Amino acid sequence: MTERIDGHTILIGLMAYPIRHSMSPTMHNNAFTKLGLNYAYLAFEVTNDTLPQAIEAIRTLDMRGSNISMPNKQKVIPLLDQLDPAAEMVGAVNTIVNDAGKLTGYCTDGTGFMQSLKDENLDITGEKMVLVGAGGAGTAIAIQAALDGVKEIALFNRQDEFWNNAQRNVEVINEKTNCQATLHALEDQADLKAEIQDSAIYCDATSAGMNPLTDLTLVTNPNWFKSDMIVFDTVYAPRTTKLMTVAQKAGVKYVLNGLGMMLEQGAEAFKLWTGEPMPVDYIRDLLFDEH
Ligand code: NAD
Repeated sequence: MTERIDGHTILIGLMAYPIRHSMSPTMHNNAFTKLGLNYAYLAFEVTNDTLPQAIEAIRTLDMRGSNISMPNKQKVIPLLDQLDPAAEMVGAVNTIVNDAGKLTGYCTDGTGFMQSLKDENLDITGEKMVLVGAGGAGTAIAIQAALDGVKEIALFNRQDEFWNNAQRNVEVINEKTNCQATLHALEDQADLKAEIQDSAIYCDATSAGMNPLTDLTLVTNPNWFKSDMIVFDTVYAPRTTKLMTVAQKAGVKYVLNGLGMMLEQGAEAFKLWTGEPMPVDYIRDLLFDEH
């Protein structure tokens, strides 16, 4: 990479805390090198306290933009000049684009989810989805799926601190899209089973399955799934979660983890900054050595 950094190199950031563990710098810098693009992507430890100065620095240093992650995804909104409509509906930003000092906020997690399905030749428009989770990932997925033409979303969540979010997501979708969203308590297992059996896709966007909850799956009975449906777990580490094992046992045809979504949310941001498609297959092979 040092060979291609010169006086013209354009900087893109990642502003979050903690952030040193992130794969994003490796992903983007390898993609820049592969395509011969003169950009560099660096991670910066930025908290809510230092966020205003960090965002101003995007303008001052004429950076092309930045990724934004926790704890800054909501706090960044008032610091920007405008929001993409989906980011506005999600209420969170993970990508900023700087056009001559004008900062626009986007949320590419939801588009990344939808694109990762398209990569597998799966089309959920006009279909019904059961979605569990109303945190950052669940909200982005729900809003984008609704905007992209999913017909119905049965949104489940525990009655925890995210319940109000779930309520809000259902209201926003019903008010602003043609999708019909309904709110369900995860505690009602009979309801969950019935809704899954009426749906084309079951998507888990909760912390279940991810470290430290690697032994947890919110569906334990393989009989709840239909073999011709999609089961999508947003978790990508581990690559095969407990939920995915249950789905495989049920003979479900399309069982996906969150790796494709992670790559595609990066690819969406990459395209917004550079105008070029990220070489996703090359990056997947390079970083994860798998398809
Ligand atoms: P978050 O903290 O914002 O939301 C957590 C969600 O999980 C909430 O809906 C909460 O109610 C639910 N939850 C937590 N513990 C639970 C439990 N024991 N049982 C049932 N529900 C529970 O987190 P987030 O950032 O939205 O991340 C959620 C998941 O999405 C994680 O597994 C993460 O790995 C995944 N994710 C994937 C990508 C990707 O690109 N593939 C991106 C972001 C997040």
